[in-house]
Amino acid sequence: MPDLTRNPRAAEGREYDVIVVGGGVYGITLTLEAARRGYRALLVERHDFNAGTSWNALRIVHGGLRYLQSMDLRRFFESVGERRWFLRHFPDLVGVLPCLMPLYNRGLKRRSTFGTALRLNDLLSWRRNAGVRADRHLPHGHLIDSTATHDLFQRVDPSGLCGAGRWYDGVMLNHQRLMIEILRWATNAGAIALNYVRAETVNTHGGRASGIEATDTVTGDTQTFNAPVVVNAAGPRCAAFAEHTDRAHTELFRPSVAFNLLIDHEPLSSCAVAVEPKQDDARTYFVLPWTVDGTPRILAGTFHAPWPQDAPLDDPQPSDAQINTFLDDLNAAVPGLTLDRSHVLRVYCGLLPAEEPGTEHTAHRPVWIDHGRADGPVGLFSVSGVKYTTARLVAEQTLRRVFGRKLRDYREAAARPEAESALDFADYRPNLDRPDELRRVARLESVVYLDDMIHRRTDWGADPRVAAEAADALRDVLELPAVPSGAPVPRQSTGSSAEAAA
Ligand SMILES: Cc1cc2nc3c(=O)[nH]c(=O)nc-3n(C[C@H](O)[C@H](O)[C@H](O)COP(=O)(O)OP(=O)(O)OC[C@H]3O[C@@H](n4cnc5c(N)ncnc54)[C@H](O)[C@@H]3O)c2cc1C
Repeated sequence: MPDLTRNPRAAEGREYDVIVVGGGVYGITLTLEAARRGYRALLVERHDFNAGTSWNALRIVHGGLRYLQSMDLRRFFESVGERRWFLRHFPDLVGVLPCLMPLYNRGLKRRSTFGTALRLNDLLSWRRNAGVRADRHLPHGHLIDSTATHDLFQRVDPSGLCGAGRWYDGVMLNHQRLMIEILRWATNAGAIALNYVRAETVNTHGGRASGIEATDTVTGDTQTFNAPVVVNAAGPRCAAFAEHTDRAHTELFRPSVAFNLLIDHEPLSSCAVAVEPKQDDARTYFVLPWTVDGTPRILAGTFHAPWPQDAPLDDPQPSDAQINTFLDDLNAAVPGLTLDRSHVLRVYCGLLPAEEPGTEHTAHRPVWIDHGRADGPVGLFSVSGVKYTTARLVAEQTLRRVFGRKLRDYREAAARPEAESALDFADYRPNLDRPDELRRVARLESVVYLDDMIHRRTDWGADPRVAAEAADALRDVLELPAVPSGAPVPRQSTGSSAEAAA
């Protein structure tokens, strides 16, 4: 049985080919890609897996339609290929997202222009469904008229409306399980993954990386892990970790902030609708229908803003003014919508690499540093990426940089293990009738704190009120503390789930 049982002491005694620092989607997919090729891989994450930027994503597994606008065909093909990867391997956790873009015959949103883009999108992604389960196939995009647009999106602004473009993308139905299932796949292929283990520094011997010094933040123990290759995939902390262990490479991560809002309001449509206020340079937002604890709600994103260079990198939060601007924009874009702060259930916020320092425009490409080639330790690599969707591809490209032509092929045995059915994930409340199963899942999936179970093994924590109930209900069953001090806690309008219940 492949599992994620946490045992840092046993892990210390092993030899590794590669150590990955950071348990977000970049580190997790890198660990998977290494393990599937037969490398002995160790992942260390200082908090819980998937507790950083990755947890806050809008959950869209993008194809490349948006990149046709700038004719960035490389990004287009990469995104289409990686969307297919998610749909092929995780049809249980990644679904089809119908998208709708109302058209007003302005700029690129003219019927003729958008129709051409949709045709090109279909043509260039003609293999998008190859090997994908039939119920996860993405149909062709098409234009619809104003009446059909209104049928799908009743609050659509009718003035000047000339129909809409309709297309399909991927969506993470349960991103918590998706990350855990990728981790289970990696551990099934031989990897070890440790949460609550913080990499402190990279050890070197004769100018070469030889492993890391780390701290088990649960026990406070210092640990040494040995490997000739260390990959720094620490997300927003990537540049800081590189500077601490070698020297400054500011190009790795120049922070900008981005956030989504979970809103207590009925969905605007059964599709993800693209909306924007009618003004020059207005931002476009996607408003997704999102069911939380059985209640249909709205997940809206993404608001981007600059992030001061010297501001903290941990637990970033938007200002009140930014949240208000986002709500004002949504209200201005959708007639009759009167959202205010009381509707905000949760703020999902993270830092993304900016193209230029001090701007809100996210970088277009990942950045790699081979520290050995820049007079640093040989065998130390850093990688910083931009999109969840393309993390696996970046992992493969990273391994090519690390191992060059010697990069091994996948081993046949390293297929995804059957998904666990120990928890009923359609039921967003903890099933206290099955305490033994809950304890078993907690043990097999490295649940150290209650918040790990509520927010990152299940979807129980999406609604802060349910999260507080779940924390209360689970406290006696799992006998675990709520949250570690200093760990990021999911933000909402008031307090944190486990804190609220404490
Ligand atoms: C609001 C928002 C919406 C988004 N929406 C989408 C979307 O819809 N689709 C999409 O494709 N992309 C989306 N993205 C982008 C995507 O989420 C990110 O590109 C991706 O999650 C970055 O992953 P990461 O692994 O680099 O970083 P993280 O997820 O932050 O992971 C880095 C990890 O490293 C750990 N770490 C740091 N230092 C150490 C250390 N010393 N030792 C051990 N561990 C350490 C951290 O604790 C953290 O868990 C969105 C991003 C945001 C912020």
